[in-house]
Amino acid sequence: MNRKTLRQILSDARAIRADLVSWRRHLHMNPEPSMQEHETAAFAAERLRQMGIDRVTEGIGRTGVVGLVRGRRAKTVGLRADMDALELGEANRVPYQSKRPGLMHGCGHDAHVACLLGAAAILHGRRDRLPGSVKLIFQPGEEGAGGARYMIEDGVLRRPQLKAVAALHVDTQVDAGKIGVRRGYDTAQTEDVRLVIMGKAAHAARPDQGVDAIAVASQALVAIQHFIARHTNSVDRKLVTFGIVRGGTRANVLADRVELIGTIRSLETEGREAITRFLRRDLRKLVGAMGARLRVKIEKDGYPPSINDDTVVDVISATASGMLGAENVVDVPKPNLGGEDFAYFGLAGLPAAMFRLGIRDEKKGFSSPGHSSTFDMDDRRVLPIGAAMMAATAISLLQQS
Ligand SMILES: [Zn+2]
Ligand SMILES: [Zn+2]
Repeated sequence: MNRKTLRQILSDARAIRADLVSWRRHLHMNPEPSMQEHETAAFAAERLRQMGIDRVTEGIGRTGVVGLVRGRRAKTVGLRADMDALELGEANRVPYQSKRPGLMHGCGHDAHVACLLGAAAILHGRRDRLPGSVKLIFQPGEEGAGGARYMIEDGVLRRPQLKAVAALHVDTQVDAGKIGVRRGYDTAQTEDVRLVIMGKAAHAARPDQGVDAIAVASQALVAIQHFIARHTNSVDRKLVTFGIVRGGTRANVLADRVELIGTIRSLETEGREAITRFLRRDLRKLVGAMGARLRVKIEKDGYPPSINDDTVVDVISATASGMLGAENVVDVPKPNLGGEDFAYFGLAGLPAAMFRLGIRDEKKGFSSPGHSSTFDMDDRRVLPIGAAMMAATAISLLQQS
């Protein structure tokens, strides 16, 4: 696409800035947890219908919504936005603060939905000139539930068949005004892990008569990190984090049971296998040596690593340079060990890639990482860029071949 058209799309997006911001803030105030995005889905569907998009289907992949902007040719590409919020209390004191205690759009999926709605409006406005159709995919349950899988099972890739799919994620590592791109490995394989350490209760003053599950759990936690640091290949990218530790009933009773719940993140198979072998075999022995027993459950059902398709990345890259200038397109140098169920689109055999919408703006105070209670962005500045990039990427993909 030529530079003039790309700049035109950006100005289309700037013209609907007020809508983009109000959509995002409405969603920000009304966050919903994974697979319960009923109001969010209804909101997206309603906006699409108001725009005049005639084919809007709700209930795809449970709470997912799919819209179709029909163009001149049969070829169809997809744009995906995830919709769910996090179980996290918001610390930002802003007029659009979450109205739901303990729930927050701390990963920016509110912005993703707003950008995709914006792209829908832009594409619909250009439908007579579109070299194909664009499927707008509003996906539930990215944060652990694997909503992408439910949508794929419900046929989101078919009728009409998608030729490629793109998505964006806001990124606090990339400066506002810039787009980040990355070929190849983008996010990690994730596996949920649950360890239960079973000791024996006794009076706090006579620990020798019981087995202190909390003390054993502390040793286990240290041993796991030590194992990774000292007994695995340091070149393999992997980690284990335990976000939940539960155990004990009273201050003066030895805990007889401690539960550790966490996640394993890895890019390479070797690192992943080394960790699971350690947990299943060696850690069991270690815990046994301290008189306790260990139960290990590793949920193999985590997200696969997401790998960006080179051709789609190149299209995104060229689109972003044409629209924003080459100086505003940055290479994301490293994959991250976050999980992303967008991986399932690529795994389904579709050329798929995700790009980063920069939101870092330290001068304005926007630098808190995703999943933190102070995460926020200058939505007035970044949303038009996100919406324009989504719309233009779809058109560029349609123009290919
Ligand atoms: Zn997230
Ligand atoms: Zn996210």
